[in-house]
Amino acid sequence: MKAAVVRAFGEPLVIEERPDPEPGPGQVRIRVETSGLCHTDIHAAHGDWPVKPNPPFVPGHEGVGLVEKLGDGVTHLSVGQRVAVPWLGKACGRCEHCLSGWETLCERQINTGYGCDGGYAEEMLAWADFAQPVPDGVTAVDASPLTCAGVTTYKALKVADVRPAQLVAISGVGGLGHLAVQYAKIAGATVAAIDVTDEKLDLAAELGADIVIDARKEDVGEVLKRHGGAHAAIALAVNEAAFSAVDSGLRRGGKLVMVALPAHGTVQVPIFDTVLNGTSVIGSIVGTRQDLAEVFRLHAAGRTKVICETRPLASVNECVDEVSRGQVKARIVFDLGWGR
Ligand code: NAD
Ligand code: ZN
Ligand code: ZN
Repeated sequence: MKAAVVRAFGEPLVIEERPDPEPGPGQVRIRVETSGLCHTDIHAAHGDWPVKPNPPFVPGHEGVGLVEKLGDGVTHLSVGQRVAVPWLGKACGRCEHCLSGWETLCERQINTGYGCDGGYAEEMLAWADFAQPVPDGVTAVDASPLTCAGVTTYKALKVADVRPAQLVAISGVGGLGHLAVQYAKIAGATVAAIDVTDEKLDLAAELGADIVIDARKEDVGEVLKRHGGAHAAIALAVNEAAFSAVDSGLRRGGKLVMVALPAHGTVQVPIFDTVLNGTSVIGSIVGTRQDLAEVFRLHAAGRTKVICETRPLASVNECVDEVSRGQVKARIVFDLGWGR
């Protein structure tokens, strides 16, 4: 089977021929149909973050495909069933976080495409308990972006406790942001979408954003304040200044939810304003299996739209460049070509 491999940080990925992986106890082997390119995969390939993966590794945590082989003890999945393999590849199931509905904070978690090989491959392994069944009515192509971009932004809006009639700022309308705009609308909020390209701002408007703010030309904080200030701002742009910009547009009691992970990122939070205005800064990391099930259910019900382009895995390095330059409309999804 073919896989795209990070052999060294900062180097182009290499397409390698590898043996089909054998599922161990509790695992399944999946014939990957589609795999989304999340900006996190680019951070992984660059070794951008303090906790680094160990090359060589196969990135990808939006892999979707058909179960092909069951490891020992797997009884709840069947061969031929479509599943998605998210960032949360495995959690311990026993710690305080796992037991209290916060498996995404488990200290013993293993992350797909980071701590174990991921979805940029024709075949992959997954822990069966964390491989999410994809309901009928959700295609593999659509399921891929939902598996990280969808669940992450859906969860971020839950973390912000967004209510109808609130103003929510979505900073960055890329893979994550285009779904965040839609979840915020579903929650009943008024949505202000912020980006730095005309295409992304047009896309945000098409997807229902009520206010679009061009961060190249406008003072984001001022525009948000003119609308009363944001109750919540979801920071999805891979740019530190964009975090401060939306933070300055919060209303009193507003929440800044940090999601994007720019390399070596730090933000200066003004103490006086934070104290006097009673604002919060919260980190949000992906979502649980239950959150992903809800994301798939919403999509199967026709409530969300995935905007993406499919590409062959062989074009992985050009795709990485396009996403890095912000030239992709929303998401790139690799089509692994099975069954065609
Ligand atoms: P993306 O490249 O598809 O989208 C980023 C968007 O930000 C682009 O539309 C870009 O034009 C826009 N942008 C750039 N500069 C801006 C600025 N100054 N103001 C406003 N917008 C600006 O990336 P993505 O796949 O959506 O991922 C976004 C970030 O989220 C990455 O850092 C990724 O690692 C991170 N991420 C975090 C989690 C999590 O659980 N916390 C999960 C997935 C991804
Ligand atoms: Zn991701
Ligand atoms: Zn745990």
